[in-house]
Amino acid sequence: MPKTLALGKHYKMKVNTNNTFVDQWNSAYVSKAFPFSIPRPVSGADFPNRPANRRKGDAPHVSPWVFSKALAARVEGCVRNDWILVPANRNLTVKWDALCGNEVACKHNVDKNKAGNVHAAELSDAAGKLYHKLANGHWWDGKKRRRINHDFSKLKYATDLSDLEKKLVRDLSFLSQKFAGTQEVRLLMNHALFGARIEYGDPLFLTVSPSASHSGLCIRLSRYRYEDPAVRCNLDDKTNFRPWAGSDKPNLWVNESEDAVIMDFPEYEVRRTAVSRDPWCVVLAFLHSAKFVLPAALGIQMCPQCPHCNHDGSVTPCQTIFGHNMRPTGGAAGLGVASGGTIEYQQCNNPHVHENVHIASVYQHHTLVEIGEKLRQNLLELDTIKKYVSWIHREEHYHPESHDEKLAYWEKKWKNGHRSSDHSVLCQLPSFYKEAPGSTLWSPQPASREEAIAEGSGFLKK
Ligand SMILES: [Zn+2]
Repeated sequence: MPKTLALGKHYKMKVNTNNTFVDQWNSAYVSKAFPFSIPRPVSGADFPNRPANRRKGDAPHVSPWVFSKALAARVEGCVRNDWILVPANRNLTVKWDALCGNEVACKHNVDKNKAGNVHAAELSDAAGKLYHKLANGHWWDGKKRRRINHDFSKLKYATDLSDLEKKLVRDLSFLSQKFAGTQEVRLLMNHALFGARIEYGDPLFLTVSPSASHSGLCIRLSRYRYEDPAVRCNLDDKTNFRPWAGSDKPNLWVNESEDAVIMDFPEYEVRRTAVSRDPWCVVLAFLHSAKFVLPAALGIQMCPQCPHCNHDGSVTPCQTIFGHNMRPTGGAAGLGVASGGTIEYQQCNNPHVHENVHIASVYQHHTLVEIGEKLRQNLLELDTIKKYVSWIHREEHYHPESHDEKLAYWEKKWKNGHRSSDHSVLCQLPSFYKEAPGSTLWSPQPASREEAIAEGSGFLKK
């Protein structure tokens, strides 16, 4: 019990709050509101048109969004372990941007002969009624009257909206399109993926959810200083991950010798503790899987800036002049022309990506009737389709007998979250990955101009 009460005998604390509002849009607010995470008044964003108390003269300007982004990546344990600081700062930044940002503007015509206060009263009245309709209103789906039931995306279809209410809903929809995580952004994703389907044809649908507690990369990307009190406080604990605090631990590759595999990796409980204390490393490792490993497996050319790398004037676009991102060698599912997806965070689980992969195949731009016709005309072999489908959806085992023999054992392991050490091999990459032939960005580069010319001369047109 005493261990759980951080404030010891003072656990019953009476706090009186004032009813005077504090100005939140200034650089000093963060350290005032979160004194345990940022103990000295040294941080905070530079809000435009506010005095920059912390950064004087020609010091770099740290905008609220830049500060909000950088805060999540700060190395101090007191910031990484604070469950409120980063979300609260994000909340603050979104509110500021929604009300003061340059990009977002509510546009509708206003009667210039009407006094400002009358107009304000009408707007507040309309907002109040909309709020009521969000909870108790109804919308018409074309056949049936349905309850809105707090679904903001249905509010614009409400049956009895006044003109002003309609304008307000339109303004709000426009505003929320600018911020990640809103319903309106979901609609934009829908439009983008539907557009891709028209251009690239029918896709395969993938769900990929890399496990954070089985990822060596998570531990590698987790950043704690070795002397940080956050990793020093549980030295006797089984979950002590201090030995793994550092930029070069663990090794990403499995070290294989003749007859042994050497794992440079902490136990399951340590891994789980480490990733739960560092949400940013989970996000980084996940983005690495989604933006590098997955496209590589699918044979799709993709960079961290995609698709913005294709913007007019870019000298390093990932797309070809045909508008494809296909690598000539293809990938695990065939020739991947393009892909697009969305990232989802569900409850406290691993982030995962839902992705459409457009594969160059007969299904891309043909209906089932047309495919049937091709089969009848012998332009397409049924066996080819069967082979492809059983390759993509492989459900039978390579060695069914040994699978059946060990089924009960594997079921038990799975229910246990694969926590025993014989599954640690899932956490690292096999060493043969880095031995792939051919030069990459990480291969030794030519040291001199002459060497570079000699290397490049192989690519000259003869
Ligand atoms: Zn790119």
